[in-house]
Formats: sequence, structure tokens, C-alpha cells
Amino acid sequence: RRRSAQDLLEGLNPQQKEAVTHRGDPLLIIAGAGSGKTRVLTHRIAHLLATGEARPGEILAITFTNKAAAEMRERVEELVGPAARVMWVSTFHSACVRILRREHKALGLRSSFSIYDAADSQRLMQLVCKELNLDPKKVPPKAISNKVSDLKNELIDADDFARTVTESNSFDQALAAAYRAYQERLRQAHALDFDDLIATTVHLLRAFPAIAENYRRRFRHVLVDEYQDTNHAQYVLVKELAGVANPESVEGRLATWDEAVDGAAGDDPAGAPGGAAQGAAGSAGSVGRVPPGQLTVVGDADQSIYAFRGATIRNILEFEEDYPQARTILLEQNYRSTQNILSAANAVIARNPDRRKKNLWTAQGAGAKVIGYVADSDHDEARFVAEEIDSLGDNEGVKPGDVAIFYRTNAQSRALEEVLIRTGIPYKVVGGTRFYERKEVKDAIAYLRAIANPDDAVNLRRILNVPKRAIGDRTEGAIAWFAERERISFGAALERYEEIGMPARASGAVGGFAELMFGLRELAASGATPAEILDAALDRSGYLAELRASDDPQDASRVENLAELHAVAAEFSEGEPEGDLADFLERVALVADADQIPEHDGGGVVTMMTVHTAKGLEFPVVFVTGLEDGTFPHQRSLADTSELSEERRLAYVALTRARERLYLTRAALRTSYGMPNQMPASRFLDDIPADVMDWRREESATEAMRGGWGGGYGSGYGRGGGYRSGGGYGGYETDDTDGGYVYGSGSGGRGSSGRGTGAGGYGSGGYGSGGYGSGRRGSTGPRTGVGSGGGTGGGGARGKSGAADVPSLAIGDRVNHDSYGMGTVVAVEGAGSSSVAKIDFGSAGTKRLLLRYSPVSKL
Ligand code: ATP
Ligand code: MG
Repeated sequence: RRRSAQDLLEGLNPQQKEAVTHRGDPLLIIAGAGSGKTRVLTHRIAHLLATGEARPGEILAITFTNKAAAEMRERVEELVGPAARVMWVSTFHSACVRILRREHKALGLRSSFSIYDAADSQRLMQLVCKELNLDPKKVPPKAISNKVSDLKNELIDADDFARTVTESNSFDQALAAAYRAYQERLRQAHALDFDDLIATTVHLLRAFPAIAENYRRRFRHVLVDEYQDTNHAQYVLVKELAGVANPESVEGRLATWDEAVDGAAGDDPAGAPGGAAQGAAGSAGSVGRVPPGQLTVVGDADQSIYAFRGATIRNILEFEEDYPQARTILLEQNYRSTQNILSAANAVIARNPDRRKKNLWTAQGAGAKVIGYVADSDHDEARFVAEEIDSLGDNEGVKPGDVAIFYRTNAQSRALEEVLIRTGIPYKVVGGTRFYERKEVKDAIAYLRAIANPDDAVNLRRILNVPKRAIGDRTEGAIAWFAERERISFGAALERYEEIGMPARASGAVGGFAELMFGLRELAASGATPAEILDAALDRSGYLAELRASDDPQDASRVENLAELHAVAAEFSEGEPEGDLADFLERVALVADADQIPEHDGGGVVTMMTVHTAKGLEFPVVFVTGLEDGTFPHQRSLADTSELSEERRLAYVALTRARERLYLTRAALRTSYGMPNQMPASRFLDDIPADVMDWRREESATEAMRGGWGGGYGSGYGRGGGYRSGGGYGGYETDDTDGGYVYGSGSGGRGSSGRGTGAGGYGSGGYGSGGYGSGRRGSTGPRTGVGSGGGTGGGGARGKSGAADVPSLAIGDRVNHDSYGMGTVVAVEGAGSSSVAKIDFGSAGTKRLLLRYSPVSKL
């Protein structure tokens, strides 16, 4: 059902109306969250169509995600009918792909050019670096990849960059060489990487004025949502497509035009040498005659959250400078949230320096208060969230589909997912993979399964060459063939690798793998816990070391997920001290399988996602979890003002997604890198006025015990770097001097008594008796507690395959941590792959870290 132009304006406020009906000069709409920016864009498109001012083919609308694009197309279709389908509503990347597929000839590309995703382009860069003989320790391919991506986002090509490199800078020299070689390889392969899609399109439009003109004639209306998150290349692309002249480029074009005309007129007009000059004159001339397209951008500087990908608020702040004739419209009424939610969000963002003050208000009334909850642990937090969702359903008729749970980093989803699964609340994880479907988690579990079951061919083959150990498809085929011939399992064939008759190199590689698995099975047979076996598998295989050596942020989050899996295993042993690897795997299989809960009774499913992914969306009920300094704001932002500002904007985005109910939760103890850490409240919570909050619980049980308790800590380690920690903390002391709380993996902090025991190491080389910790929590009054800790660890000989590359640290050493920055070692416990160091990171606090999982390097 089509809507008339008049209909489309109904219900809009005067500013929104103006934004929808404005014509001519470039239009900038800046406004806070939920003020109807996206709605205005949608209505504007519909209005242009309804009045007959534009045909659908003349519209190019750019959104940030494919999901947002689909939603916008849907909304326009609702407003104007199926004509909407021929409109270009897409992300920057897909718009560029469409353009490049049409114009491939001009660039000498095949129309079927390939697009390399991140993994492809990483692999290519690795190859290039190897060919150039670059030392991966000094010049890690991933670092090069990231830098090349940054350069492309800045539209700096390989030649431009090479010109800026000085002889003294060897890293940049390597970078320049790798950049050039990488581009050459892409060219040969008729491939473009993700960043190239944008940069190449910009290049196309700049180098071929006639092509640019075509698109300018075609797209009379260019509309961009979330403009605050465009990077430089995207910004230039918009400019080129809209053809809206800023003074600089007008002059540029006129100069070309004049020169071309002069040149043609002054010389021999008929026989001007070279068609190129004429071509240029022709297109430059017509460029001048194409009336500029109408450019509309909408954004909110307070919601700029992609600086790490090169996005720059500058694009929005300086729009008026770029386009002096631009009309700016401010929207101030928020239609999404209640006043309490808005007040909380406004209070958080108000603390950012250098921002334009906004006056966002709502006519929706105060609404429910923002609910706060301080959990004892990440589990307790998850439990609270699940119970709330349940009771909202029972008491308020809230459906799962109305609810969203946000977290700062993907690794946080695991504890939440597990509780949702257990309580049967259907959910989906958006923009990330469910915990047990993540590659690194699947790889690690494949190791465990292959250890538990030597005949598990699927899992053995999954990890055969993971991490890379030079076992290729041919070798794998040879093993499989041998297995078939001998009528034995793939695993059995592996063990008889010497009989297969493979070339020496392959045989050596397979032998290494067989030995690795043999050693791990021996460890499992010796009674090691699932967590210990997991650690050994990740260490001895080199899996963890490879991830840790990478400087790709994605790999850092992979390490976090593995640490999380370690925590799952440790927890399992706590609940079932007698449980072995097979029991653990059974448990995991059940949980991982329950991942496939179908959507039931039309109530939709709870949406879980990182805050970054939540941009632009809205939900009746929102839980923002992990509001702790060090989680959200993220640890690495704490010492950096501009990063902290970005975290604050991220918090603003998170809070403003809520329509009716907002929950803010934090955990007093959170496990990260496999270690429970005491977490202070997020500073963002401090900014929220008390009168909009309803604290269900303001202090955790463990925090209540502050000052009273000592925990116990003990460790023993034995052969193969095997390690058993004495868990158990019964609380902790404020001055952070006791030995127990951070490392204790027991649940001592909760419940009426905390108690943990740690058995020691094992193995042939020695036996360690572990520490013992006990604590009792009094209900009121001053608490007293005892903690006996410091187990003795009898270490045997370290296993031959050794442990991961763990820095050996001593008190007083200076270290650097990827997130916490520089620090000084104040205590060391344990040794080798099981060592735990207590490190003072100055303003980032004192941390106790299990070194194997922590990105720490000695300075
Ligand atoms: P964000 O900054 O989060 O992207 P936004 O400014 O794009 O937010 P929208 O998503 O367009 O805001 O609008 C927020 C909500 O308010 C939507 O549910 C929208 O339908 C509603 N809304 C916007 N304007 C009006 C209006 N004039 N009357 C009624 N509802 C409105
Ligand atoms: Mg929006």
C-alpha cells in the first residue's frame, strides 16, 4: 500500500519534516541516539519517490551493516511498495563491489575478480613476507597486514608510502616492500581485498572522469547513515559519488576544464595531438555541467565507535567546512527511550570533553528506573540476567525477542550462554559465533576428543595440521589410504606412520604429531584434570604460542576464549572432582548441542551481541553486562584519554538501545585469561545520577567480606608442565597481600563457606602437595578469617615436549602487557608454564596473572 507524500510527513516533528523535505544543498542531520535519524532517512527516500522527484534507481543509500541495509529496504518498501527493490541500499563494501563489477574493464580486472576476506588476505601476506625473507619475529605478517589496511583506509597506495620511508626505519622499509609485493600478487590473482574495494572504487572514479560522471548522473540522491563512522576512504568515496563540490575540488575541476579548453583552442583544434587530451577535456567539461547530486548524511559524533578501524569524527565535525553551503538540522527529541534511561545515558556521555552539548529530551515520561545489580562473579551475573528475563516474562509478558544482552567483548558471552541454555531461554548470538562454534574452541575440543578417543578420525584430521606442522593433503591422504589397506582406524595408522612409506619430511612431521598425541594421552592416563590436559594440548602443540605471537586483535580474543574454555574445565573439576576427560567432553557435548535450541512459540529469542554490533538497533529490554573498570571501559583504554572517550561513546550507544527497561550489571570477580580478578565498578556507573537508579544489590557478597579473609593458595606441578592449583578463596584482604583470592578457582567467595583444596602435581618426577585454603563468611559484623596457603609444589622433571613459551620472571623485572601496559613484577609463584606472577601495573592496578595465558613480555 503506497503512502502519499503528505502521509509520509505525518507524525514527524518540525525538524524531522524539514529534513525530509529539504532539497538542494547538502544536508547534515546531527542528533543524539533515538531521535529518528534513520527514520528521517527512510522517510526522505520514500518522500522523494512519492512526490515523483526521484526514481528508485536514482537513490543510493549507504548503511553500516547488511542487516541495517535490509531493514531500511524493508521499511522503504513498506512505505512505497515493491519499487523500492531496485534502489541501491547497501553497505559501502557491497556498493563498491557492484560498481567494480560493472567497471572492471577500465581497471583491467576480470569481471569475475575475487574478493579476499580477512583470512585469505592474511594468508597471502604471510606468503609475501616469507618470499621477502622477512623475519616474522621482527616483522610479523599480521602487523604488516594491519598496517597495509590502515594505509588503504587513508588512500595511501604502495608507491605513495614507499616515498615517505626513510632509510633508517627498517620496519617501514619492510612494510613498503611487503605492501608492494602484496598488491602485485593481488593483481596477478585478479583479486581485491576488503579495503581495496573502497580504495579501488575511489581510484576508479578519480582516474576516469567519464565513469564518475555516469554515476553522478545516475545517483541523484546519496544518503549515508552513521556518517560518524566513515573512514577517510569512505568519506572521499561519498564525495566523489555525490559530486558535491567543495571549493577545492571545484577549482580543481575548473582548472582542468580551462586548461583543456585553452589547450584545444590555442593549438590546432581539429588535430590536437593525442585523443587523451580531448577525452579529458570532454569529461572535465561535462563534469562541470552535471548538477551536483543531493547529499544527505546523518550521524552522531557521540556514537562514533570505530576509530580503531580508521573512522574519524572529523568527517562529521567538519562537514560544514567541507560543504560550506550545507544545511544542518539538529533533532532533539528522543522517541525511543524513557526519561530515566535517557538521563543515565546523557550523564555518561556528558563527561566526554570536546563534544557539542546536546539537549536530548523525551516526551515518554520517567518510566521504570534503571536497575543495577552487583554480582559476585560472572556466573552470578549470568544467573541474575536469566532470572530477570524469566520473571519479566512471567510478570510483565516480556517475550525473549524483546530482550537484548550486551557485552563489551565476545568472550563474555560464554557464562551468559551457559546459563541461558540451562534455563531454557532461547537466544542467538549476533555478529559473533556461539562460544562452542568458535574455531579456536572447536579446535581445542577436537584435541581433547582426539586425546580421549584415539580412533576419532574426524577430530584427529581436524587438528592434524592445526597449528600448521607441514602435514599437507597428500600426506593426510596417504595415512587414510594406509588405514584402509590395513583395515585399521586413521588414528592407528598414524601411530604406524613409519610403515606408510612417506617421504622423510612428511614422515617426520606425522611422527611429531603422533608423539604429541601419545604424550597427551599419557598425561590424561596419569590422572590429570581436563583443564591440565587442555593446557598441555594448547602448549605442546604450539597452538597457544602461535596466537600469542600474533598482534591481530582477533587472535587476542581467541586467546581469551581459550582461557574461558580453561575456566569451564576448571569449574567442571570443581563440581566433579572425580570426573575425567571423557566426563568433561560429555558435558561439553550436551551444552554445545543445546546450542541448537529452536525458536519456540513465536516469542522470538533473546539477542546477544557486543555493543559494537548493537549500533542503530533498539530493544524494549536491554541488559548491559560487565560494567567494570577493565571490562567496560576496556582495560587497554584506562590509561589513554582518547580511547577512554571512545569507550564512553560505546557506553552511550549501549544505554541508548533500551526503550523501556535498562539493566546495568557488573561482577565483583570476573575470570579473564583463566584467572578470577577482582573488578572495580565501571567509572561510567559513577556518573549516573542516583535518583534514576534502582540498585537491587549494591555490593557483592565477596566485597562484603573485604578486610576479613585470607585465602589459601597452593600449587604443585609435575611432569610435562602439568599443574594443579590450589583453589579456594574464602574472601580476600583489601591490601591485596594474601596469597589466595585471585588464583583460587574455587567458589569460596560465594555461599556460606568458601573452601578449596588443591592437590599437587603428579607425574613420575615428583609429587607436590598443594595448598589449602579455607574461609568462612560471617553474616554480619567484623569478619575474621584464616587462610593457610602457599602449598608446596614438588616438581618433577618437565615433560619433554615442554611448555609454552612462558617468560621466566623474577621479582623486580619490568614487563609489558598488551592490555595493561608496563608493570613491575612484585611476586612470582609456580614455575614454567604454570607460573603465576603478581604484577604492579601502576594506574591499571596490581594483577595476578597466569603467565601462560597472558600477553606479557619481559622488557
Ligand atoms: P540511533 O542514533 O540509535 O541510530 P536514530 O536517531 O537513527 O537512532 P531511529 O532509529 O530512527 O533513531 O528512531 C528511534 C525510534 O523512534 C524508532 O522506533 C522510531 O520509529 C521512533 N521515532 C522516530 N521519530 C518518531 C516520530 N516522529 N514519531 C514517533 N516515533 C518516532
Ligand atoms: Mg539510526
